[in-house]
Amino acid sequence: MSNLKTDIINYLESQKVYGNNIFFEGDGIEFKIDKDLVLKNMAKKQSPNKNIKESSKESTISSKIKHEIKEENGNSNSFIADENSVNKNWRDAKSLEVLYNDIHNCMRCELGATRNKFVFGKGDPNADLLIIGEAPGRDEDQQGEPFVGRSGKLLTSILESIQLSRDDVFIANILKCRPPNNRRPSTSEVDTCEVYLHKQIEILNPKYILALGLTAADTLLKEKCIMKDIRGEIMDYRGKKLMITYHPSALLRNPNLKRPVWEDMKKLKGLLTE
Ligand code: SF4
Repeated sequence: MSNLKTDIINYLESQKVYGNNIFFEGDGIEFKIDKDLVLKNMAKKQSPNKNIKESSKESTISSKIKHEIKEENGNSNSFIADENSVNKNWRDAKSLEVLYNDIHNCMRCELGATRNKFVFGKGDPNADLLIIGEAPGRDEDQQGEPFVGRSGKLLTSILESIQLSRDDVFIANILKCRPPNNRRPSTSEVDTCEVYLHKQIEILNPKYILALGLTAADTLLKEKCIMKDIRGEIMDYRGKKLMITYHPSALLRNPNLKRPVWEDMKKLKGLLTE
């Protein structure tokens, strides 16, 4: 990393100018903070005569940060993370419909530039059970719905095995946009997007959350988990009861996992009907 970039990042971190929107090299993607934009902003920060008008102008500038994205195929794209792409009052939403309208044009991280469709989630807004996956895949990105395709069909069958339909639950992902080539989301992407999931949980107020797959578990619990140690256990996630089990795609690869998932689902059904 160049000295200039290090200096800029250190400055931004110390000033907390851009909140979560400082991105670094990682996961095969390189982000470059726009030097001119930052320097302009630094100069304004240092000005003793800054008046209110200048200050509001500054916040407009700082709400957009240009990133250069280097894709795996070597192509480079630039992307501007835009805080103004969502309704600034989205945290006040009282219903899922309002929340969707507030955030569905989100461009706060680079995944907004590559998605086909924003995948908010689908199901019963009064559901007792919220099912969470990691991020949309190719089919979800095309259709704008979570858990479609082969894994989605298997999830439907798993739910039917405990007498639930997809309409009885709410299904969402931690990230609302597909990471290119289904790569693992970066920490900064999760940090930027997970707040929407928090808001969905607040509005839905489910009795139980079922997280599917180890990546979703690691992301939610912020630690490296071992599936056999945590699956089927009741844990806490933001004050809600959370159970983790295998992702349907793991069952497609290894049918031996159907039995532990069946045991977890039976336990969950018992808890939901208590
Ligand atoms: S992944 Fe989340 S934060 Fe990033 S653009 Fe999509 S909705 Fe916004």
